[in-house]
Amino acid sequence: MNYEMVIGLEIHCELSTKSKIFCGCSTQFGNEPNTNVCPVCLGMPGVLSVLNETVVEYAVKAGLAMNCEIARFSKMDRKNYFYPDLPKAYQVSQFDLPICLGGYLDIEADDEAYRIALTRIHIEEDAGKLTHVADGSLVDYNRGGVPLLEIVTEPDIRSAAQAFAFAKTVRNILLYAGVSDCKMQEGSLRFDVNLSVRPEGQEAFGTRTEMKNLSSFRVLQKAIEYEYKRQIKVIEAGEKVVQETRRFDESKGITYTLRSKENAHDYRYFPEPDLLPIVLSEDYIQNIKSNMPELPEEKRKRYIEKLALSEYDARVLTASCELSTFFEDVLKYYDEAKTAANWVLVELMALVNQAEIELDEIKVTPEALAGLLNLIKAGQLSGKMAKGVLEEMFSTGRDAQTIVKEKGLSQISDTAELEKIIDEVLSNNPASVADYQGGKDKALGFLVGQVMRQTKGAANPKSVNEILLHKLKK
Ligand SMILES: [Zn+2]
Repeated sequence: MNYEMVIGLEIHCELSTKSKIFCGCSTQFGNEPNTNVCPVCLGMPGVLSVLNETVVEYAVKAGLAMNCEIARFSKMDRKNYFYPDLPKAYQVSQFDLPICLGGYLDIEADDEAYRIALTRIHIEEDAGKLTHVADGSLVDYNRGGVPLLEIVTEPDIRSAAQAFAFAKTVRNILLYAGVSDCKMQEGSLRFDVNLSVRPEGQEAFGTRTEMKNLSSFRVLQKAIEYEYKRQIKVIEAGEKVVQETRRFDESKGITYTLRSKENAHDYRYFPEPDLLPIVLSEDYIQNIKSNMPELPEEKRKRYIEKLALSEYDARVLTASCELSTFFEDVLKYYDEAKTAANWVLVELMALVNQAEIELDEIKVTPEALAGLLNLIKAGQLSGKMAKGVLEEMFSTGRDAQTIVKEKGLSQISDTAELEKIIDEVLSNNPASVADYQGGKDKALGFLVGQVMRQTKGAANPKSVNEILLHKLKK
């Protein structure tokens, strides 16, 4: 029998506000444990929380970017559970009245387009971080109270590839909206997966399990593939899938039972009495709407219409916020968009992929790449030489001008010098000269190649062509 998987995702994203959601503590990552804390985020008795206004603004921005309806009235609730990562023994979250409702994102997976519906987006505080050691557990409350966005989808996802594409799209939108740095390695984006299987053609959902805190796109995909197969095995063995939270063990590539699944009533949600409801006016929402950063779809259109890029280049560039930002930064120092797109997408990305690193880790700045392109434009470097210079820039982080100067590289545009080399090439290849003059145009290419070889690629190909043609006509 064939089984279909049904997936809903919950994505937690840390917002990039400077201070925490209910106090003035810094949200900076990587500080000494328990240094970004105060009585409020440590849950001391008698303190009063104040909602960070930027959190609301960022949530509205994210909601608008994901086609949600923004609630004019929402409120914060206490989600009660006892665990040492929460000093208050409750997490302040949103229960029945979240700040964003509905919404959707369009994705592409396996060359097909899908629309994934969202249920809601709400705001909440992050918990502290536990580290388990041999004789106990250590807790760091620096992360406690960092603002989170929780994005919840409908059970619309049907494959690991779709989940992967959706997660990538969410990350990209959040980056474009400017509300999170989405640094995976710092845990700024985490995925919870609700997964069930059902026989193909069956309407009713199967029993689902939940896998929490998957911290990379690769892990998300692997966990889904494993859990899908596991549930099918359970069903085919005549047993029942148990509703529970399972943990995905990255090193072993398997999931195991963590705890039986809590239901909402287990958390005894109730309205947070220390915080006022969030009431948003039409003006407030309109104001954010009219100041939204450019999102991928608009950007793609602008690249095609205003910058005359191909549909393909525009799509690849805008599919990554980092890539389109890099490209646009190059254009601040260099004015030929098509050439810039080509160098970023082909030459630079080839080096990035070869080095197996991310774009934001490279040593070549947009300004430095623009510097290289300007040397080509000024006729000081041939395209071929520039590729070599870019490789050197990529491995050393030095700028094009310095490398060109040091290596004594320069394109030979000096006509007198070129004529001398060309005369030599012509006298050494009488057969090709005769071929060309006898009507074999192909021989010209061979002669150009010989000149380029003599000059080690430093001749200006345009000048070489002109001089050669002139001489061959004689
Ligand atoms: Zn604090």
